Formats: sequence, C-alpha cells, structure tokens
Amino acid sequence: MPKQEPFERIKNFDEVALGYTQALAIEEASRCLNCKKPQCREGCPVSINIPAFVKCIVDNDFAGGIKTIKETNALPAVCGRVCPQEEQCEHKCILGRKGEPVSIGRLERFLADWEASKGVIEKPEMAHSNGKKIGIVGSGPAGITVANDLALLGYEVRIFEALHEAGGVLTYGIPEFRLPKAIVKREVEYVKSLGVKLYLDYIVGKTRTVHSMLQEFNAIFIGAGAGLPWFLGIPGENLNGVYSANEYLTRCNLMKGYLFPARDTPMKRPAKVAVIGGGNVAMDSARTALRLGADEAHIIYRRSREELPARVEEVENAEEEGVIFDYLTLPIRLIGNDQGWLSEIECLKMQLDQPDESGRRSPVPVKGSEFRMKIDAAVCAIGNSPNPLIPMTTRGLSVGRKGNIEADEQTGKTSVDRIWAGGDVVTGAATVISAMGAGRKAAKSIHETLSK
Ligand code: FAD
Repeated sequence: MPKQEPFERIKNFDEVALGYTQALAIEEASRCLNCKKPQCREGCPVSINIPAFVKCIVDNDFAGGIKTIKETNALPAVCGRVCPQEEQCEHKCILGRKGEPVSIGRLERFLADWEASKGVIEKPEMAHSNGKKIGIVGSGPAGITVANDLALLGYEVRIFEALHEAGGVLTYGIPEFRLPKAIVKREVEYVKSLGVKLYLDYIVGKTRTVHSMLQEFNAIFIGAGAGLPWFLGIPGENLNGVYSANEYLTRCNLMKGYLFPARDTPMKRPAKVAVIGGGNVAMDSARTALRLGADEAHIIYRRSREELPARVEEVENAEEEGVIFDYLTLPIRLIGNDQGWLSEIECLKMQLDQPDESGRRSPVPVKGSEFRMKIDAAVCAIGNSPNPLIPMTTRGLSVGRKGNIEADEQTGKTSVDRIWAGGDVVTGAATVISAMGAGRKAAKSIHETLSK
C-alpha cells in the first residue's frame, strides 16, 4: 500500500498509509484463490464473510462488498486500519503458506473508504422496535458493537461514555497518523444513525450506578475498557517528565495537544524521549514523540525484536521513521535534576533464558551491566488494567486478580443477573477485534435471554 515517505511523515500527524486505488484493490482482490473451504473467515473474530466481499471487489461491485462486511462489522474503516490481520484472517490465507497472503485488511479499508467517499452510507435492514431498553457503559469497540447489533434487532439502545468524545481507545489512544479521528467519528455517527443514543461526560459509578441503571434498562452491557495504566515500580517515577502512555497519548489525541497553542492543551516537546515497552502503545508513543519534534525517540524493551508484541507493520513503520530500539534493556531507576525534572535513566542489560508461561523467552539481567542514558522524558507503556470504579460500586460483580470483570467467555454474562460485560474490561488490554467479538457474543446472549 502506498505510504507517506518517512522523512515527510515525521513532520505531520496525517495518516501514514494512503490506501488502495480502485485498480490496486481489484488487482489485490484478484489474487484470492476462492478456496472451496476458506480458512480466512474462521480467523476473523466477528466472522466477516471475507471470500464474498473480496469477490465483490473483483466484480467491481463495491456497494455489495461493503454491505457484506457490515452484516457482521460496524467498524470496517477502523478494523481495516488497525486489526492484527497478520495473526487472524491473513494468517489463515492459503497464499500465505508460500508467499504473501491476500491483504484482506487493506481491502476492507478500501471498501469502507469507498463508501464514505460516496457520501451515502447504506444501512442494513432493521427490525421493528421490540420496546426493550439496553444500557451500555463505554463507547469503545465492545460497546459500539453491542449497540449496533441490538439496535438492528429492534432494541432501544443508550450508550453512557465517561469522556467528552466517543470511540474509547480509538479516539483517545491510537494516534491520528494511524487512525484519523474523522474516521472514528464517521463510524460512531453510523451507529447513532441506527437510533442509538449517546450520552457523553457520563461516568457510570459516579454520575449513576449500574444498579440504578438496572431499574430503567432490561439489560446492561459493561464495555469500560482497561484504562488504568501500570507503572514500573522503580525509583524516580514521580519525577516531572515521566508519563503514562495513557496520559501522553490522551493529551495528544483526545485533547489535540499537538495543535497547541491553537488548542488549549499544552504538550511538552522534549528532545530525547525514552518509551518503555514493546507493544502497539509503545510504538504509538515513540512515533508521536518524533512528530512532536524529538531528536531521539527510544524504545526500551527487555526482550529482543522477535518477542515484540506490537504489530509487525507498526514496528517497521517506527524503524523507517528513525525510532531507536534498545533491546534487551531494563530500566531500573529514573534520575532527576535539582528542579525535580527527569534527566537520566539507569538501565541493566538483559539476556534471554528459557520460555516463560506465555511461551516467550524470559529476560534475565546481565550482572554488572548497569549503564545510564541522558533523557528528557520517559513514557511508560507496559500495560493497563480496568479502572476499579465500576466493580467498586456494583454489588455482587465478580472481579479477577487483575481487576478485570469476570464474564462467561461464550456469552459475556457476569455474576449479576441482567449484567453482561466484554472487551478489555474482561480480558485486560487486548485488541479492537477481540473487543468487538466479545460484544457480538454478548449481544447475541442478551437477545436470546430477553426473547425467552
Ligand atoms: P475501550 O476502547 O477502552 O473503550 C472503553 C470506553 O469506556 C472508553 O471510552 C472509556 O472512557 C469508557 N469508560 C470507562 N469507564 C467508564 C465509566 N465508568 N462510565 C462510562 N464510560 C466509561 N488494538 C488493535 O487491534 N490494533 C491496534 O493497532 C491497537 N493499537 C492500540 C494503541 C493504543 C495506544 C492503545 C491504548 C490500544 C491499542 N489497541 C489496539 C487495543 C485496542 O484499542 C483495545 O483493545 C480496544 O479499544 C478495547 O475496546 P473496549 O471497547 O473494550 O475498550
């Protein structure tokens, strides 16, 4: 797919990947072998009929293609951009065994963008109102999916969102250069066009409890995500210039800090930034730092390149843009200057040992390998867990060891009658499509339960 050149793109926040032209999309779709038993669909957590929409592209029937996707996915422009297809549908594509799989995600994006360029967004057939009301906590991919599926089935759906913009991580976390906010808005507007009502600045657990909502709604779905950042627990984390990735990216994306002073949120522009972690969140933070004018953005990761959990495409983009990867490195102390600002980071070199319970080789420190790096800011991107507010204010809700709400994997049912949950609030930080898959299962279960 055509992309902005690295030397150009690190000076702006515009989208990096430019999308297929019609000719490129048809050429790519024509590589599909039309397998008798297509594996790709099995690899999709929301079961998009991939062979059917790819065939529509080959036949120049773009309207038919997007209609097929929307039967099971309300966020095609989002998923086409950020889903880890290389581990899902594309991983199952037969062509991938000997060469390159069909670029299913890029084709999905092409159809969604094609529809948007027409200005007329088609809606699937909707059932008549059944008079039942559903309350949804959180407007991320999990909540949006439940809202979409139940609105189509004739439910009156209301979403309650704590922030002043809808979309969850899609809006406040993933940067503009990877997922333009106009696209998230467009897909949220689509779900609203199905009759879903959205209440912003509404913190469930503070503005109103889940139990009080149960008096008004037939069922509640909790899709509150995992927005509570983890820190390393090392000395110096309270110094000025040390951020959680949540704060750093929220300031930039949701609050539009990169447009300061045209927008109100100030954003410091340090020269040397160290991002700790190796996932998508870490890549997004380091690439954001470069765009904010950093001379150096480092990724400090305790394992090697092979173990990086981030999407390969995003690692390659970060490498092309000049992010410096310090592998097998573990921060052990943050050191400040006289004014209480971060000035150095002390690290240990690591080496890889036997695989741990996750199957990845464990990093172990190399004795006596301590060294220091001069640094102006550090961004901690080592993971998140769910915010405890809802479990703390909802009687009877079972919660796991890491603060995640416990819910049945197949149905999303929680320990409290008429309350379902899904997405990151259940699994801990995961992916957009897994949150959507959980939303889809919960919507099905809610419908089955309320139809009895
Ligand atoms: P969220 O998206 O977190 O949405 C939860 C919503 O609930 C939020 O809007 C929150 O404000 C709201 N909320 C919370 N508490 C309350 C309350 N008490 N009352 C009302 N509302 C509440 N995944 C990918 O697949 N590909 C990627 O490339 C990718 N990159 C990522 C980059 C970053 C920087 C981050 C942070 C995550 C990334 N992810 C990626 C992960 C993915 O975005 C999440 O797994 C997904 O958004 C989870 O969806 P969700 O609906 O469960 O929760």
